[in-house]
This record gives sequence, structure tokens and C-alpha cells, in this order.
Amino acid sequence: MSEIKTITIIGAGTMGNGIAHVASQSGFKVFLVDVKEEFLDRARKTIEKNMTRQVQKRAIPEYRMMDAMKNLNYTTDQDKAVAGADLVVEAVYEDPTLKFEIFKRIDQKAKKGAILASNTSSISIGEMAAVTSRPDKVIGMHFMNPVPMMELVEIVIGKATSEETIKVIEQLARKMGKTPAQSKDSPGFIANRILMPMINEAIYTLQEGIGTKEAIDTVMRLGCAHPMGPLTLADLIGLDVCLSIMEVLYKGFSDEKYKPCSLLKELVDAGNLGRKTGKGFYDYS
Ligand code: NAD
Repeated sequence: MSEIKTITIIGAGTMGNGIAHVASQSGFKVFLVDVKEEFLDRARKTIEKNMTRQVQKRAIPEYRMMDAMKNLNYTTDQDKAVAGADLVVEAVYEDPTLKFEIFKRIDQKAKKGAILASNTSSISIGEMAAVTSRPDKVIGMHFMNPVPMMELVEIVIGKATSEETIKVIEQLARKMGKTPAQSKDSPGFIANRILMPMINEAIYTLQEGIGTKEAIDTVMRLGCAHPMGPLTLADLIGLDVCLSIMEVLYKGFSDEKYKPCSLLKELVDAGNLGRKTGKGFYDYS
């Protein structure tokens, strides 16, 4: 398998632009793809703003930002960007139908030896691999948000993922300054299998009136040394995202212990999704 030099990222949203940021700073040639120019402009501005902040904080020297900028390319021409890539990282919405469509397409357009990765939080890597002609070269690269700050990449290994693919992707993650941790392709992988039921339990604790939201968050912050309380964290992640991951766990394991709390559903139904809508467990308006 040839060395990875060019990385194409599909989806220039929160995660896509973060992955592009880190990959370009690590010396890779990057093509960031989205469906509209305005989404690419938004990503370009975000990356420039975040890199400028790194320079101002002296986290990186200015020349490193300049080099990274030269590595970055923005395009709506997905097929062309995929054809030149050694690795394609898919980071579009968490929608299985959309992801399967994209995997089918990128498999047709990518070079024979190219690796296809997904940043999915919860969709089965094996199912994505099954729509391609190269299941051995399909793998999960679950970056954490915000990508430039968070050190972990969960490497999700499908049944057909080859040892060679795992090796190449772990090396790549290290080259990006990240620490890889392997997970089997199971609902929620490791991070969300543990994190989301804790958040869900915090919501039950609130619903049952065991403590106020402030008390629940304070207990976990000061008593368990979590950097932020579970309800604050849920607001940051997005309550819709928390609900959809709980539904994946509940459906995947058919176990009552993963049943999403009805208060979480109520908040999502009311459009109170957390920070992004200005209101969740807390009011951000
Ligand atoms: P987002 O909504 O911020 O961005 C998704 C982007 O994909 C949008 O810019 C959209 O225009 C683009 N897109 C949609 N269809 C496309 C297509 N056909 N071709 C090209 N681009 C297309 O989403 P996000 O938060 O960045 O999440 C992306 C993925 O990362 C999801 O699978 C999510 O589960 C996963 N993830 C998210 C987080 C997080 O905290 N946000 C953390 C880890 C993993």
C-alpha cells in the first residue's frame, strides 16, 4: 500500500473543517469537498480563524499556518477530488442512506489502493464497507470535536478491515498528532457506548428530581473530576445528537438500559437542542 500524501474530506462542516485543519498542518495535501461554495467559504473562514488564534496564542509559528494554507484546496467537484486521493475521509451528516450513497460513489471514483474512512459516531463501518468493492480498505476514523484540540481518534475496525489498513491509519493518526484507540464495529463504539448512557442517566436523575441541573453538573465536575457536567456537555454536543446515538444503542442492543429518557425526547421535540439553538438544559440566549 502506498504512502498517504493526499487526503480528500467529504463534508466541510464542524468535523470536516477540523480534520482538514489538522491534516493540512501535518503536511498532507488536503481537498475539502462540500455541495455548495458557501459551505466551503464558511469552512475556509473557520479554519483561518482557528489557525490565526493558534498563531496568536503561540501554539504554532506563523510559517506553519502559511504552509497549511498552501496544502488546503476547497472544491465542490467530489469525483475529481476523490480520484487523486490516497485516503478519503467521509464527514457528512449522520444519515445512513446518505453515507451509503457516498461510499458507493467514492468507491467507484477512488484509486484502487485508496483507503475509505468514515468519521461516523454511530453507523456501522461494516455496512458502509459492504456497499464498496474494497471492504478491507474501509475503516472508521472517529475524530472528537473540536478536532484540533482533542487528542483521540477512535479507530473503528470493521469485520473485513485488513491489518494493513489499520496499520496505515494508526500511523496517519499519530502523524496528525493524535492518539489512536481501537474499537470493534459495535453500536456507539467505545466513546459513545460509555458517554451517552451516562448523559442519559444524568437526564433521568434530573427528571426524577433527585437533583437540580446545577447540582448534577457540580457533582460530576467536582466529585468525579469531569471537565464539565453531563448536562452542560449534552447541550454542547446537541440534544438531537445525544438522542439519535441513544436510539442507535437501544436498537442495536435491544436492552432497556439504553432507553432514551423521555425528557430528552421532549426537549428535542420542542426544538431545544442545546447551545446551537440557544436553549437546552440551560438558557444561552
Ligand atoms: P455538520 O452538519 O456540521 O457538517 C456536515 C457537512 O456535510 C455539511 O457542511 C453538509 O453541507 C455536508 N454534506 C452533506 N451532504 C453532502 C454531500 N453529499 N457531499 C458533500 N458534503 C455534504 O456535521 P458534523 O457535526 O461535522 O458531523 C459530521 C460527521 O461527524 C457525522 O457523521 C457525525 O456523526 C460525526 N461526528 C460529529 C461530532 C460532533 O461533535 N459534531 C463528533 C464526532 C463525530
